[in-house]
Amino acid sequence: MGKFSSIKQHGACEEIANPSTAYGRRRRNWIDAHGSVPASLVVDASCSNQHCITLTHAYLRPRVEQPGRYRKIANRVLRLNVGQHFDLSSIGTDERSRNRFRSGLYEAARLDKVSVGGQPDGSVRVTKVGEWSSLGAQGRSR
Ligand SMILES: [Zn+2]
Repeated sequence: MGKFSSIKQHGACEEIANPSTAYGRRRRNWIDAHGSVPASLVVDASCSNQHCITLTHAYLRPRVEQPGRYRKIANRVLRLNVGQHFDLSSIGTDERSRNRFRSGLYEAARLDKVSVGGQPDGSVRVTKVGEWSSLGAQGRSR
């Protein structure tokens, strides 16, 4: 009788044993509740449970992080003057995605001080707030 997946309660999570079935169900639950999901975002579970379909655990995160992504963004920051900003869409609505973005960008933008502000539509505003001295900022401590 094929792959019928039953839902089981596990702690605070409603689970489906097959992760890809769970993913499909989680996504459908999200769309039913919140409307369509941008192509660049996926519906993940904030409890990190791949089997979880609980709507309140669902959140949006970027589909994949392309290699070199933060380097490209850091290069855009480099060309800004202090105080200027740009917005990036599809970063995600949750703190985890934003924190990951923040730490990736801080890592890449070594010469610039940036601030990252999350916005309700899942985009972030990246503002150049200063520049580090390029002399002796890293490495040569003695
Ligand atoms: Zn859960």
